[in-house]
Amino acid sequence: MRYDAVIVGAGFGGMGAAIELKRLGLRNLLVLEREDDLGGTWHVNRYPGLAVDIPSSTYSYSFEPNPHWSRLFAPGAELKRYAEHVAVKYGLRPLMRFGVTVDGARWRGDHWEVSAGEETFTARYLVTATGFLSMPRTPDVEGIESFRGRVVHTAAWGPVDLAGQRVAIIGTGATAVQLIPELARDAAALTVFQRTPIWVSPKPDHPVPVAVRKLFARLPFVQRAVRWIGSSILELMMISGVVRYKQLRVVNRLAEWWCRLHLRRQVRDPGLRRALTPDYSFGCKRPTFSNDYFRTFTRPHVRLETSTIDRIDESGIVTASGRTEIDVLVLATGFDLWDTNFPAFEVIGRDGKDLGAWWRQNRFQAYEGVTVPGFPNYLSLNSPYSYSGLSYFTTIECQMTHMRRLFTAMRSRGSSVFEVTQRANDEFLHRMRSKVVRNSVFSLGQCGTSHSYYFNQHGEATLLRPTSTVSARRAARSFPLSDYDFSPASPQTSFVTDDTTATGS
Ligand code: NAP
Repeated sequence: MRYDAVIVGAGFGGMGAAIELKRLGLRNLLVLEREDDLGGTWHVNRYPGLAVDIPSSTYSYSFEPNPHWSRLFAPGAELKRYAEHVAVKYGLRPLMRFGVTVDGARWRGDHWEVSAGEETFTARYLVTATGFLSMPRTPDVEGIESFRGRVVHTAAWGPVDLAGQRVAIIGTGATAVQLIPELARDAAALTVFQRTPIWVSPKPDHPVPVAVRKLFARLPFVQRAVRWIGSSILELMMISGVVRYKQLRVVNRLAEWWCRLHLRRQVRDPGLRRALTPDYSFGCKRPTFSNDYFRTFTRPHVRLETSTIDRIDESGIVTASGRTEIDVLVLATGFDLWDTNFPAFEVIGRDGKDLGAWWRQNRFQAYEGVTVPGFPNYLSLNSPYSYSGLSYFTTIECQMTHMRRLFTAMRSRGSSVFEVTQRANDEFLHRMRSKVVRNSVFSLGQCGTSHSYYFNQHGEATLLRPTSTVSARRAARSFPLSDYDFSPASPQTSFVTDDTTATGS
């Protein structure tokens, strides 16, 4: 079977791509997913306290608002239900195959060959939507495998009975901030191993009254207005905190002051406060919201440990300041991005060009965060400089718009093969790099101690697109079509569309 497109990943990115390709008239689509169901992050992550960390009204497709969120920051299970709803409404489920781990893709001159174990799929177009945060990281701590108690990574949460247990958690990122108050509720003792503190601001969370939900359902424009307000606040944070640090440093400082004030109101002990205060600029790594994180450290059975972990043995964790006996070890140690996830599997383009190797030898780069020279008919959704704004849906929708413009232009030229030009890619990379260097917190702030996954292994901040989302949206709508080379379909390749004027048979 030859597909019009194979999409790898059934999270919100992959589903957005499938919706857009269907709208463009491609009928023969296949979505491959390594997990046993759709939803990506929101299927995999099930740890207690999981919730969206930006207002839910902005964390959804703008064309499919959900009036039913129970809280301003909805719990993870609601995101999973929303993903299921979208998949059913847009007819995506029948396109999906679960439990299929793609291990490679190769351009064969006029189509992609995608391999997953013994199986091979061929398709005219390849879209990878494998997520940024999809490869859980186990810390490389000596002796971890000798620990005889339970070890659980936040991205592989299962039933864990914590009642009466001595629990340790490694990591204080956005995940840990949600989880630590929950662990403290049940554990007899909780030790938090922190390497780098995180900026945490108060969370303006509250239940959405039923009357408001009914109003959103009846008058969607009201919810759109709320979305617009939420998006504008996030945009201001993103712009001031990250992109225009040079011009708006004062807003960045205000954000730091706000987080410090929040900490001061919850923690009286100056030593503990100092230990929980980041020494890097706001925005170097993703800040988060919580109303009970700091307060948790003041509970008598909760201890913050900031000494470096030396090793783990069969029953505890050893640091320079002593040994902590534990029964359960929770790893909130995040995800591997740059070493294993760019790309998530081997992608070989034209003339045998290896995407992973090329990125590592020539800088991480992708035109408009979505296409790469030497890789025809390939859209890489989780690319360098693709992440735009603070809601992942901004990124997804910009990419959907880019796809629409690209495929429409290709079709109007009677073509079915696209490839971004080297020139356009180089210009885009140059523009993004100069914006990072000239304006952003990444080069002008103090990011040296932040240990942020925004930076790649060469110390370059190549994850976030260093522009406003307004500018990202404009670029997606109006990038020069001359930035792409289009070539005709080869006669032997089928390309089935609803549009009879399209190329192929
Ligand atoms: P993370 O931000 O990468 O944090 C990982 C934590 O583990 C860091 O504190 C890190 O310390 C620590 N760590 C890793 N290896 C360690 C080691 N060997 N020894 C000691 N500490 C170690 O990962 P995350 O907390 O899972 O969050 C990832 C992202 O997921 C967030 O930034 C956010 O974008 C997203 N997220 C979103 C939501 C949502 O609701 N949408 C919720 C949770 C998370 P260092 O900082 O020192 O490396």
